[in-house]
Amino acid sequence: EHTANFEYTANPARIVFGAGTLSRLPAEVRALGGTRALLLGTSARSTDRAADVLGPLLVARFDRAAMHTPVEVTEAALELLRANGIDCLVAVGGGSAIGLAKALALRTDLPQVVLPTTYAGSEVTAVLGQTEQGRKSTLASPGVLPETVVYDVELTLGLPVALSVTSGVNAMAHAVEALYAPQANPVTERLAVESITLLARALPRIVADPADVEARADALQGAWLAGTCLGSVGMGLHHKLCHTLGGSFGLPHAETHTVVLPHAMAYNASAAPAAMCLVARALGVTDAPRGLYDLIVRLGGPISLRELGLGRGDLSRVVELATAAPYPNPRPVTAEGLAALLTDAWNGCAPT
Ligand code: NAD
Repeated sequence: EHTANFEYTANPARIVFGAGTLSRLPAEVRALGGTRALLLGTSARSTDRAADVLGPLLVARFDRAAMHTPVEVTEAALELLRANGIDCLVAVGGGSAIGLAKALALRTDLPQVVLPTTYAGSEVTAVLGQTEQGRKSTLASPGVLPETVVYDVELTLGLPVALSVTSGVNAMAHAVEALYAPQANPVTERLAVESITLLARALPRIVADPADVEARADALQGAWLAGTCLGSVGMGLHHKLCHTLGGSFGLPHAETHTVVLPHAMAYNASAAPAAMCLVARALGVTDAPRGLYDLIVRLGGPISLRELGLGRGDLSRVVELATAAPYPNPRPVTAEGLAALLTDAWNGCAPT
């Protein structure tokens, strides 16, 4: 599935990783020339500690970041930014807070320091998804890539168990699809395998004890490596389906990834045997899709689109939307194949 020839371009981001690294935030802001920071998040509570640490560098706060980066929200933050002479963006949170920082960077060219608190991986990609009047569109631009990522394991200790599980599987999805991407290369292959290995071992420990710092560190490192895969190679059927289910049916991001991944893997298994072999080994199982499904069940994660609120009658529309434009995938995507996959995912049965 991958040949000796390859191309790989690394994203130019600075990574600071550890426990308690939040204390490094002021120095990282100053290193980018920042003197007047705007702090972004999804709630005041989630950014209070960063606000304290920033001290006099903090000039304004905006706590209304939302899922899928609505353009109206970005415009409100932009107004605040301009009124306060901001010269650096700081985001604390998951993909939603980081998405807002990227949207503001796109419009202002300001540098970003981001502190991820989930495993979504957006912090290391040059991709931005935005919604306007309910329509989600995605763009790729080097200007949206955050200059500095500060991973502080302590910021993830409070990530609720359910979201830790689904966000962890969201990260695995980047790694899995990177293994069969057309641009797959020895760098992303190693990152992907290590990422799946770290996450598969960390998630059961986090479910047993959400404050297990070592397990949290493994999961966050796995998320970083998976995000790096996402930022380096193209994704396939799984991401396309989740984009459709989130963007057009309002399904929650991480939960949807968790339900769909074992089924998307089963769909692609026959066309990507080497990738599935690597995933199975990283998971410590013999059958990758079934092994992942069983892991999700053991971790108490969601297994059906029905429980996420999708109507049975919506499935044909999902098939229509997800087959509208062709995209690279190891196994050709047909309407019948997709309908069968979605029926399994909707019912929550084991992948077939
Ligand atoms: P999110 O950022 O929306 O966070 C989900 C919820 O968890 C929020 O209510 C948030 O406040 C809360 N939360 C986050 N961290 C927490 C913590 N440590 N403790 C307690 N609560 C916490 O969810 P997400 O899954 O991280 O991100 C999803 C969004 O990111 C979607 O809009 C998706 O499209 C986007 N995304 C983009 C990329 C990209 O490369 N552009 C990659 C992944 C995700």
